[in-house]
Amino acid sequence: MRTEELLAHVATNLATSRQLCARAQRLFEASDWNIALARVLRRRHPPMSGGTDGVDGPLRDRIRALMDSGVLPRERATRLWIVRSPGGRGCIACRYNLRPGEMGYEVVLAETVTIQFHRHCYELWAAEVASRLP
Ligand SMILES: [Zn+2]
Repeated sequence: MRTEELLAHVATNLATSRQLCARAQRLFEASDWNIALARVLRRRHPPMSGGTDGVDGPLRDRIRALMDSGVLPRERATRLWIVRSPGGRGCIACRYNLRPGEMGYEVVLAETVTIQFHRHCYELWAAEVASRLP
């Protein structure tokens, strides 16, 4: 291959490489935008409620595991507060944050510790507690 042909070949490859880099950058930016949009949409929609056991199955399993490990109480709540959430606090059952203004179910443990639930998560936990009572 002559020097001129080699230089032309390198120039073509360089131009193609630059185009591919620009395309990759656009895809990267579009991905960032898609991720940000997905996060916003996830925050806008409340947790599913009124679903079937199939939908709640993994959450029920997690609640049962938390009860078995002692993280969640196995007895009924003696103190329950239903409060408007300031947002940013996580539900102990599903680990998703409550949205600002969403009603949160706060259970006070041993007069000192407060754990927070979404309404639906609280109802699943309360049902599990009730099912285990003798
Ligand atoms: Zn929850």
